Amino acid sequence: MARGLDALARSELLEIDPGEVLFDEPMSARTGIGIGGPADAFVRVRDVESLRGLLAWCRRSRARALVMGEGAGLLVADAGIGVVIALGEAFGVIESSPAGGDAPEGDAGGKVSAPGEARVRAGAGARLADVLAFGRERGLSGLEALAGLPGTVGGALAMGAGGRGGGLPTAVASVTWLTTRGRLEEVPREALDFGAGGLAVPEGHVIVAAELLLRPSSPERVGAAMEAAAARRAGSEPKGVRAAGGVFRDPAMGEPAGEVIERLGLRGIRIRGARISEVHGNWVVNEGGATARDVLLLMDYVRDRARREAGVELVDALRVVGRVRR
Ligand SMILES: Cc1cc2nc3c(=O)[nH]c(=O)nc-3n(C[C@H](O)[C@H](O)[C@H](O)COP(=O)(O)OP(=O)(O)OC[C@H]3O[C@@H](n4cnc5c(N)ncnc54)[C@H](O)[C@@H]3O)c2cc1C
Repeated sequence: MARGLDALARSELLEIDPGEVLFDEPMSARTGIGIGGPADAFVRVRDVESLRGLLAWCRRSRARALVMGEGAGLLVADAGIGVVIALGEAFGVIESSPAGGDAPEGDAGGKVSAPGEARVRAGAGARLADVLAFGRERGLSGLEALAGLPGTVGGALAMGAGGRGGGLPTAVASVTWLTTRGRLEEVPREALDFGAGGLAVPEGHVIVAAELLLRPSSPERVGAAMEAAAARRAGSEPKGVRAAGGVFRDPAMGEPAGEVIERLGLRGIRIRGARISEVHGNWVVNEGGATARDVLLLMDYVRDRARREAGVELVDALRVVGRVRR
């Protein structure tokens, strides 16, 4: 990765005017865990056109770019990161077509919904909470298990958020992304690869929207299911802390990562400001002043103990990005 942006690169970036540009922006203020050195440039792009222009500039300038949502699942290196792209308001639009049963054939942008299904198109920058509220108001079912999860549609897809509880993948009909070459591609579900760590997004591509297929229900039923899911989550997670959720991936079957860590008696251990939560063994909490290095050392320690004492290979769920020394 090219280190830093020189004065010329900075003025070129302002010249192409992709949206709001902040230089040397501390990522600790932009991530759920509250850790991270500065982004050489933090850019909130206005729309797809601005995003296209910015990606082209990054390619020309050999600047490494990372697109982010709310930073709920990110650990940014203490030494910082290159260009960080956030999606502006235009990427937050959520729209629905009528339920398949009521829709004229071929509605929903020329696509036919199966009877009883509703198509919802959500921008990648839309917050999950807003997509869920949208579904709840209209009595559309399928995403309730995600209630209480922070993050955006793009981030949740890329991370496979929701894990075992049923995430976005079950509802996705297609994903639209902007390729590194600036082409918009709508990829149907059948051609998408949802692995254990989330949707496989080709390097450098940016998800701009997703089309979801939801089932008509009632606002009351959807609301009740959401409240139950949010309560389950709230009951097992630490509250009011700076964290990034589970730092290790839960296996598809078998013992969840947090239970392995708890069984080994590792709850509450800490390295400086980074502590394994007393409430949930898979959460690393920033108690104040923790660095990315503290978190990574703590995770390495836990991983090592799990391997040696439980024969379990813990895999990162947290996305570690930027100029990491590990
Ligand atoms: C308090 C708390 C609780 C949590 N609980 C859970 C939980 O119960 N279950 C769970 O699964 N997760 C949980 N998480 C993790 C988090 O909710 C998810 O990882 C979330 O979906 C991340 O979304 P985001 O928009 O913040 O993405 P970010 O964290 O900003 O980014 C995550 C990854 O997605 C990529 N990305 C983001 N947007 C795009 C895009 N448009 N195109 C391409 N790639 C993109 C980024 O490059 C990065 O690699 C929790 C996090 C917190 C802070």
